[in-house]
Amino acid sequence: GATIGMVGGGQLGRMFAMAAARMGYRVGVFCGSSDEPAAEVAAFTVCGPLTDHSAIEAFAKRCDVITLEFENIPADTIAACSKHAPTYPDASVLAMAQDRWIEKTTLREAGIPVAGFEPVYDRESAIAAGESLGWPIIVKTCRSGYDGKGQHRLNSPDEAALVQWEGAESGDDGQPPWVAEALVLFEREASVIVARTLDQRVETFPVFENDHQNHILDETKLPANVSPELQLQAREIATRVAEHLGLVGLLCVELFVTPDELIVNEVAPRPHNSGHVTIEACATSQFEQHVRAICGLPLGDTSMVVPAASMLNLLGDIWEAAEARETLPNWGACLDTPGVALHLYGKHAARAGRKMGHLSAVGSDLADVSERLRLARERLLSDRG
Ligand code: ATP
Ligand code: MG
Ligand code: MG
Repeated sequence: GATIGMVGGGQLGRMFAMAAARMGYRVGVFCGSSDEPAAEVAAFTVCGPLTDHSAIEAFAKRCDVITLEFENIPADTIAACSKHAPTYPDASVLAMAQDRWIEKTTLREAGIPVAGFEPVYDRESAIAAGESLGWPIIVKTCRSGYDGKGQHRLNSPDEAALVQWEGAESGDDGQPPWVAEALVLFEREASVIVARTLDQRVETFPVFENDHQNHILDETKLPANVSPELQLQAREIATRVAEHLGLVGLLCVELFVTPDELIVNEVAPRPHNSGHVTIEACATSQFEQHVRAICGLPLGDTSMVVPAASMLNLLGDIWEAAEARETLPNWGACLDTPGVALHLYGKHAARAGRKMGHLSAVGSDLADVSERLRLARERLLSDRG
């Protein structure tokens, strides 16, 4: 069988590798150390830093096709991989996804609706951005932020003095280190995952509804409580983004839903946390679709196989709370909740805010599904025998 190379060792790579193995592929993982989540389920692992080109090339030579599970991979690393095997997504998609400034300008040029934004270099330009966009604004580092890290909400010019403006990294071609965005008064947040193949076939998943807690995804619900018109629009936007970028692989579009329009927040060219629910909810999971897309296979049916489904993240906070009581999370009590599926990523150290696993459930009624998941998660900290 063919060998797929996965650059990155996190949970997205792990669930990808599990889906690919089921379909008969061998999966090799390139990551920092052999105890990372994806490495533990891979057929082989090559370890090294992303800057070690001889290690990367030795890895790439063993692969028929290469993909990745996070976007912050240096461009020359991707170039080194592509010398030996087709690498998806390609360097241009990654360059866009690595830098919010390039991302937002690219989306705007493609006619995709985004919140107003301005470049920020320092306190003065942040104040100028607030004056032109209207306060409050959200300033974000352009590079390497996730889970809300590197973001500040500024309500007034005075608050611009509270931010440490120095030290954020600029883009290679002089892009600004920060971007300021207008605050979007959204009703809810949603996401759409799209897959596209080399021969230009495209499929989107149904729209997911996402609830965040402390800037970290907490729950993804399906179907989203969004009008059929906006759902269609959301899937069209995702298709347009994939086509505009010439994407091969999988991409998630994060959206703000306001009463009458959709605004794209950001995109991620890989499987996405909000897509985990597709494992149980859809005929094809996001991970299988990713395999299909990069291997030139027919794309799978994305439709729901159940009326309702939901996913709840399990963060390291649960482990910390259990440890404070000198216990472990109560897996027995959690799994005693009917119809709840447990996914653990095999991470060896729990920290507050770290994604350790998730719970999924499906059923006929979304409120009931969501309720069951919350109960299952609460039970992780119960004394129940
Ligand atoms: P991740 O990559 O983990 O999704 P991130 O650090 O890239 O997170 P964003 O997705 O940009 O961050 O923002 C995190 C959350 O902050 C959003 O999901 C949304 O809840 C809120 N947020 C971000 N930008 C805005 C905005 N312009 N207006 C209103 N809320 C916002
Ligand atoms: Mg992000
Ligand atoms: Mg986001």
